[in-house]
Amino acid sequence: MSSITRRRFLKTGLTTAALLAAAPVLDMRTWAASQEQARVEVVPTLCNGCSSHCGMLAHVKNGRLWKITGHPDHGRSQGKLCARAHGAAFWLYDPDRLAGPLKREGDHFVPIDWEQALDEIAAKLEAVLAAHGPGAVFFAHNPRATGAFYGTRFMHALGAPTTMTHNASCNTSLILAYQAVFGTTPGADLANSKYIMLIGRNPAEGIQTGYSAALARAIEKGAKLVVVDPRHNASAAIATEWVPIRPGTDLALLLAMMNVMIAENLYDAGFVAEHTVGFEELAAAVREYSPAWAAPITDIPATTIARLARELAAARPNCVVDPGWKGGFGANYANGTETARAVGAINALLGNLNKPGGLTFYGAPKLGKLPADKAPDPPKPTLPRGDGAGIAGEFPLAPTAQGLPHVAARKAREGKLRAGIVRHHNPVRNFPDPEHMMAGMRALDLLVVIDTHMTETARLAHYVLPEPSFLEREEVVEAIPGRKGTVCMRTRVVPKLLENTRTFDEIIVALARRMGVGEYFNFTLDELNSARLQPLGITLEELKARGSIQVETPVVEGMPKLKTPSGKVEFVSERFAKAGFNAVPGWIPPRVMPEPARPNSFRLIHGKQGYHSHTSTANIPYLLQITRDHNAERLWMNAGRAAALGIKDGDLVWVRSSLASRQVRVKVTERLHPEAVYIPSGYGNFSPGLTRANGFGLSMNDLVPFQTEPMSGHAMMMEVVVEVEPAGA
Ligand code: SF4
Repeated sequence: MSSITRRRFLKTGLTTAALLAAAPVLDMRTWAASQEQARVEVVPTLCNGCSSHCGMLAHVKNGRLWKITGHPDHGRSQGKLCARAHGAAFWLYDPDRLAGPLKREGDHFVPIDWEQALDEIAAKLEAVLAAHGPGAVFFAHNPRATGAFYGTRFMHALGAPTTMTHNASCNTSLILAYQAVFGTTPGADLANSKYIMLIGRNPAEGIQTGYSAALARAIEKGAKLVVVDPRHNASAAIATEWVPIRPGTDLALLLAMMNVMIAENLYDAGFVAEHTVGFEELAAAVREYSPAWAAPITDIPATTIARLARELAAARPNCVVDPGWKGGFGANYANGTETARAVGAINALLGNLNKPGGLTFYGAPKLGKLPADKAPDPPKPTLPRGDGAGIAGEFPLAPTAQGLPHVAARKAREGKLRAGIVRHHNPVRNFPDPEHMMAGMRALDLLVVIDTHMTETARLAHYVLPEPSFLEREEVVEAIPGRKGTVCMRTRVVPKLLENTRTFDEIIVALARRMGVGEYFNFTLDELNSARLQPLGITLEELKARGSIQVETPVVEGMPKLKTPSGKVEFVSERFAKAGFNAVPGWIPPRVMPEPARPNSFRLIHGKQGYHSHTSTANIPYLLQITRDHNAERLWMNAGRAAALGIKDGDLVWVRSSLASRQVRVKVTERLHPEAVYIPSGYGNFSPGLTRANGFGLSMNDLVPFQTEPMSGHAMMMEVVVEVEPAGA
């Protein structure tokens, strides 16, 4: 870093000297005016502040990023950007960025030349393949088009089946559930809904710009919004009704609402008869789940449960139980998958599929492929995966496109996985039980991390390879689903600031050539992107110039043929039954519960804040300052419970689980179910390379043990009971 700083200084000095020699002497005011009036170039690209990839217009002045605005032609974001996008622009100039490749030597890193690093990595990968076979190698990333294309293709070229994303700490359970019920993951037409029930989902803080805007539009148009959440979150603040449910019991609420809809004939019988299979089995299963049964489980009065069911049914089909993301039925509870199946089923009872205000099944623009004679696809590996996901594995239902990084860490500890490449992903910090995750990474013969920053996972790598920031690189063309789909790409906004960085595709192609599988990468990124655009009649030059282009996608009016075995909505799943689970959704209690007899026993829950993407943005000073200004890293505790424990707002407390003890300050509030304590999910970084985030705040993952939900294999991140007591106690 010091040499770069010096080089930059020299460059600036030389430029200044040259200007002074060549130009007439300017006074300060004239110089400032000339800078202010400099031409602004607007470059379209994509945000990288979270996985939504919103369209962004980067305004560049005097060769520097000047400001960013939303891209109006991007279907998902519709011209809007959130606070994280403005924060993420800082990454371009972040002094914490990795400036060149590094190699581990003992307990520290030394700089290494790119060619030598790639030679050594290729040789070590070859050695692992020779000794243990391709089943011992994995690729993990935070899903982006470039990682998915180049990372997966490289693994397949090596014969390695294990590619993974972060989803097992996010929404794997609902991906599995909706595959079973609908054959795909639906969206929701919030903007046209008359009645919206959010279960744990919080678009005001877990922001997807277009989705959050659609919720606001629905409310402006008079929609009723019901927020079911143990916490009065920011979406509840604009809701008609907040239903403070006991954490982990959303499934009981849904089963009881379906009981009412079926018992009182409130469901859409025509839709059910024509478009679903397994209704009789569902009706028989939910008969025992009355509101009176659910009331003591959920802590919601039976009359409220029955009323919510009747209100929803009265608004059908222009109503929706939101298909969710993480919240109540992502990677949090032992009943996550079952809860998502119940969400699917209740929407089908409402007959809202592809109706205004209901569930949506929009396709994405169909992209093309490289010609097979020029760039043949490597054969798809047939070996069992290294993370236990998939038919031959420990978790036969787990979606293989997402995989199970926390199980992979266990397999690494057992010596079954031996080498991995991780790109733009930080499993050590973002999965529960960091000691477990670190032990998994340390057990590998080879760990290569490709990133812009020295994350907690990068610190454990044998090689750390730096990428340019998202504003300095071009990436693979993406297709975004929607009533009108969007085709878009990340373009380079400014030239590389750090010369000694390389893009992911450059790294993968260089490794592939060294490892004898270069024939699968005989094309440039431009050729790949042109081939992807070819069926849409859009040229690469046009897309680079416009960044995002909306294209007509075939919209199926009425009910689409679903990709389930029957082609219909499946209330009953043969696959689930064969794997030993309920064929139709049934009650599964959360795995752990706080102990009522212990006044300091709570369930620890977590959630997102609108200005952070978990820990990936915590090192951005402007976003971190928002947190500091509002003491927003604190642990929420219900006011009544806090008073009983003698805890006041701002007090320091110990939080202890079976795994660890941590200290944190408390926010005392009425906005939380008394049995829960809540921590925002964006903090607790411990890598010294993240100079601003390091040591700030607490991560729930420090307290949550390594565990797996039996159906999807997800990480059950809210199945943890903690004891809280004043730090002086
Ligand atoms: S939601 Fe915000 S952070 Fe995420 S891609 Fe869109 S603008 Fe960027």
